[in-house]
Amino acid sequence: MSSIEHLSTLFMKFPGIGTRQAKRFVYFLLAQNPQYVDELAQEIANLKKTIAQCSSCFRFYPRTNTSPLCTICAGDSDNSTLLVVEKDTDFESVKRSGSYAGKYFILGGTIPVLATDPASKIRIRELIARIEQGVPEGLSEIILALSVNPESDFTREYIIKALEPIAQKYQLSITTLGRGLSTGTELEYSDGDTLRYALKNRG
Ligand SMILES: [Zn+2]
Repeated sequence: MSSIEHLSTLFMKFPGIGTRQAKRFVYFLLAQNPQYVDELAQEIANLKKTIAQCSSCFRFYPRTNTSPLCTICAGDSDNSTLLVVEKDTDFESVKRSGSYAGKYFILGGTIPVLATDPASKIRIRELIARIEQGVPEGLSEIILALSVNPESDFTREYIIKALEPIAQKYQLSITTLGRGLSTGTELEYSDGDTLRYALKNRG
């Protein structure tokens, strides 16, 4: 297999990238100056070494020390709320909006409506473990900050059902941003005002 073929197959693993686009990426790289290609290759090679995944919220953060926790989980932000998002880019939107001061949890995806094994698609077991651990620290509310589309709606319903026993056991409230967001809202593209409003009007 030539480097062109091999690199194309590697690009095809990217989300939403098909054969034709993968090939276009390869030919794009061939047309760039060597410095650009070297820099790109270097950053990719360093990525897993310089970025760590938090063992509590599962978000990716720049590795600064040997702590298994990110600065938010290790820091003194409000322990009473846990805001659950689908992915890191959603976390970034909420963080950037400056409208939330509590702890976070990254689900790592959504559940396709026809999934046969829903529990394997998101970190539901890890979320339950995180809640168990948060209760003694004052956790009282789980905020489900998911996008508003059929797959996210399905995922939200699944989580609410899965959290029912633990919510009852510890008298926790489970709230959603659903009321503040209109249909088709993708959290990662939402502006600060929209997120502030949605968070304020959660229920
Ligand atoms: Zn964390």
